[in-house]
Amino acid sequence: MMNNKTEAPSPRVVIVGAGFAGLACARALGSTGARVTIVDRHNYHLFVPLLYQVATAALSPADIAEPIRKILRRHRNVDVLLGEVAGVDTANRSVCLADGERLDYDRLVLAPGSRYNYFAHPEWEAWAPGLKTIADARRLRSRLLCAFELAERERDPQRQRALLTTVIVGGGPTGVEMAGAIAELARHALVRDFRHVDPAAARVMLVEAGPRILAAFPEALAAFAHRRLERLGVEICCGLAVERIGADSVRIGGDEVAAGAVIWGAGIRAGCVGDWLGVPVDRAGRVRVDATLAVPDFADIFVLGDSARFDDPGTGNALPALAQVAHQQGQHLGRALRRQLSSEEPLPPFRFRDRGNTAIVGRNAAIFDFGRWQLKGRLAWLLWAIVHIYLLVGFEKRLLVAIQWLWRYLTYQRGARLISGGDDAAR
Ligand SMILES: Cc1cc2nc3c(=O)[nH]c(=O)nc-3n(C[C@H](O)[C@H](O)[C@H](O)COP(=O)(O)OP(=O)(O)OC[C@H]3O[C@@H](n4cnc5c(N)ncnc54)[C@H](O)[C@@H]3O)c2cc1C
Repeated sequence: MMNNKTEAPSPRVVIVGAGFAGLACARALGSTGARVTIVDRHNYHLFVPLLYQVATAALSPADIAEPIRKILRRHRNVDVLLGEVAGVDTANRSVCLADGERLDYDRLVLAPGSRYNYFAHPEWEAWAPGLKTIADARRLRSRLLCAFELAERERDPQRQRALLTTVIVGGGPTGVEMAGAIAELARHALVRDFRHVDPAAARVMLVEAGPRILAAFPEALAAFAHRRLERLGVEICCGLAVERIGADSVRIGGDEVAAGAVIWGAGIRAGCVGDWLGVPVDRAGRVRVDATLAVPDFADIFVLGDSARFDDPGTGNALPALAQVAHQQGQHLGRALRRQLSSEEPLPPFRFRDRGNTAIVGRNAAIFDFGRWQLKGRLAWLLWAIVHIYLLVGFEKRLLVAIQWLWRYLTYQRGARLISGGDDAAR
C-alpha cells in the first residue's frame, strides 16, 4: 500500500534528450514515485562512439541504436515522448515543444548534447558533413561508396584519383577512427571487387590544425597512432588549417586538393540550452553548472553531458565531451533526485571517475590512456572491443556486434556496403 507521502502529487521530472546523460538519469529515476517524461527528437538511443562503423559499412544502423521505449519499458513511471524541444518557459516552469505542446515540470534535466562547430563557416557543412546521427552516417557511407562506383566508370586518371581521395578534417579520436576505418575499407574490403580502379590506391588525408593528432592523449600514444595510420597509408597533415571547402575540393595550407568526400570532425559546440534559459555560455556554447549539476539561479534546472560546463574540482579543468562523463552525470543526478524525492536530502556534489580514454586506429591497433598507465596495440584493441560490446545497450546488440566483428576480423569483409537514398553521393 502506498503511504501519504507518495500519494501527495508526485514531482514531475522532464528530461530533454535520451543520449548518454538523459537516458542514465531516466533509468536511475525509473520505478520511483516521480512522474518522469523523457523527450527526444528521435525514437532511439544511439551509441555514438560506434557511428563511424556505420559510416564505413562495418555495422548497420540498427546494431548501434535501440528504441528508447524498449529500454525504459519496465519503468511504469517513465513516459517517452517523440518530439522536438524548442524552448523553456522558466517563469511558468514548462518545456515548449516545436508543435506547441507544453510539458510542465518540477525538475528539469537538459541533456540535448552538441553539434559540430564549423568555426564561423556554416557553409562548409554542406560539403563536409560531420557524424552525429544515423542519417549522417548513412549519407557518409553512401558518399564514400559512391565515390568508388564513380571512379570505376571514370576514364580520366586525374578525375579518378580525385574521386578516390577522402579528406578528414580534425585529428581528434573521431578523425583518427574514421581515417583508419576508411583506409581499411579501401585496402581490405573493396580491393577485390573493382575491375578498373585499385581501391588500395585510395588516398586518405587527415588534416589537423594543431601540431599533432590526438592532442588529448599522451604524446607516446599519439605517436603510436600516427605511425599505425601511416602504415595503413593515411597521409597526416599536422599544423595545416583548412581554408576553404567546396563541392569537390578543399584548400589546405594554400594547396587545392580535389576530393570525392570531405568529412568534418574538427570540434563541437553545445546545443541551444543557453538560449533556452537565457543564460551565458562558454566558448564551446556550454552552460556552466554548479557542483550538483544545477544551473546557478535555477535550483530546479540541471544541465548534463556535452551541453554542460562542469569544472572538475580536482584539476580545475572543464570535463571533456565524452560519453562516460555524460553517463556518470546522468546516473549521479538520477540517483540524487531519487534520494531527494523520498527523503528531501540535499543534492550531493558530482564527482567524475575517469575510466580511461581510448581510440581505435585500425585492425589490431588501439590506444588506452588510464592516466597512470597506458596501453597500445593488440591488447588495447581487444580491450577496446570488449569495453564497447559491454557498453552497448541490450544483450541482443552485444551478441550481434560481437559476431559481426569476429566475422569481419576473420574475413576482412564489410557487410553493410549499401548505397541507400537518393542523396548527393552520386553528384
Ligand atoms: C563520432 C563521434 C564519436 C565519439 N566517440 C566517443 C568515444 O569513443 N568515447 C566517448 O567517451 N565519447 C565519444 N564521443 C562523444 C560522446 O558521444 C558524447 O560526449 C556523448 O554522446 C554526450 O552525451 P549527451 O547525453 O550529452 O548527448 P547525446 O548523446 O548527443 O544525446 C543528446 C540527445 O538529445 C536529443 N536532442 C537534441 N536536441 C534535441 C531537441 N531540441 N529536442 C529533442 N531532443 C533533442 C538527441 O536526439 C540525442 O538523442 C563521440 C562523439 C562523436 C560525435
